[in-house]
Amino acid sequence: MNSIFADLPTTVFEVMSVLAREKQAINLGQGFPDDPGPEDVRRKAAEAVMDGYNQYPSMMGLPELRTAIAEHYKRFQNIDLDAGREVMVTSGATEAIAGAIFGAIEPGDEVVLFQPTYDAYLPLVRRAGGVAKFVTLRPPHWTFSEADLAAAFSPRTRAVVFNNPLNPSGVVYAREQLELLARFCARFDAIAICDEVWEHVIFDGREHVSMLNIPSMRERVIKIGSAGKIFSLTGWKVGLVAAAPDILKVIAKSHQFLTFTTPPNLQAAVAYGLGKDEAYFKTMRAAYQRSRDRFCAGLSALGFPVIPSQGTYFVNVDIAPLGFHDDVAFCHRLVENFGVAAIPVSAFYAENHVRNVVRFCFAKHDATLDAGLARLENAARKSS
Ligand code: GLN
Repeated sequence: MNSIFADLPTTVFEVMSVLAREKQAINLGQGFPDDPGPEDVRRKAAEAVMDGYNQYPSMMGLPELRTAIAEHYKRFQNIDLDAGREVMVTSGATEAIAGAIFGAIEPGDEVVLFQPTYDAYLPLVRRAGGVAKFVTLRPPHWTFSEADLAAAFSPRTRAVVFNNPLNPSGVVYAREQLELLARFCARFDAIAICDEVWEHVIFDGREHVSMLNIPSMRERVIKIGSAGKIFSLTGWKVGLVAAAPDILKVIAKSHQFLTFTTPPNLQAAVAYGLGKDEAYFKTMRAAYQRSRDRFCAGLSALGFPVIPSQGTYFVNVDIAPLGFHDDVAFCHRLVENFGVAAIPVSAFYAENHVRNVVRFCFAKHDATLDAGLARLENAARKSS
């Protein structure tokens, strides 16, 4: 069997969720909300499955969803997209990432990845024959400099994969960082595969700046989004790609043999949801921000050093001041002895690992967060 996949460990999200079920732990690992998601959107999906069309939709996505995506990004990010030539629906953002990488890379091309790297990127780049070059981000600011990019980009660079807001770090990059990266993409004629699935899950009045909105990048960005993240319906696996026509044409060819298409009832419901008024999105953000604040206050009160979160469902804790230096061992101890599942952030590094950071998901009901905090109380003490 192919060695890239044969030698790959099972994704850390699955490992920790299986352990959480086994140990009946509170699962603050894999990022999914307790909340069932907006009722009207779920009802639309149910109606569409009963009354709608359940055969193959177009491989590019339902026309009504492609139009809704273009309108949504015009309204929220002031991006002009041609729904018929620049928008495609995929079965989740992970499929979109695979399609983009397989569509963009030739064997031997270099691909710049930022670590912590969402765990799907590297095996997909390698399977496409690409050679990964890493920019290493470190807590608490997870930022990158011109020198970092200069060390990673080369004339062989074909693409960069950029996740903003960044999972697992919870950082939201501002326009200046995007412009810095854009200068390198232009200098080395590289494509930017921009995983922006957390674009709506940002806090403290921040604005999401899409890479598609950096004028020099309009023709070289593959923007990836996720209805699962926009509507807190992570199991739906409805993703999207927005890119200039010449780029999208090629990604469509790789998508046609990955999943080809995506359940039409879910697509119809997402099309409806994307049209919801601004109040829905504001309320959603405010609710997650409240959960973040409640959980972070609880962690701080227990003596866990919190690394601030600006977006995503996640907050990180620095375990070094607690006397721990192995995040994997810490997370195993946490789930096995204390009944709380979390994610060791070293799982997102391929080299020069950061081993003192643990990620918690706060997209949970108050009762879940409070129960988690109660169990964490003892775990902070090294001797216990
Ligand atoms: N994106 C989710 C997370 O970061 C995990 C998705 C998955 O398990 N494939 O927790």
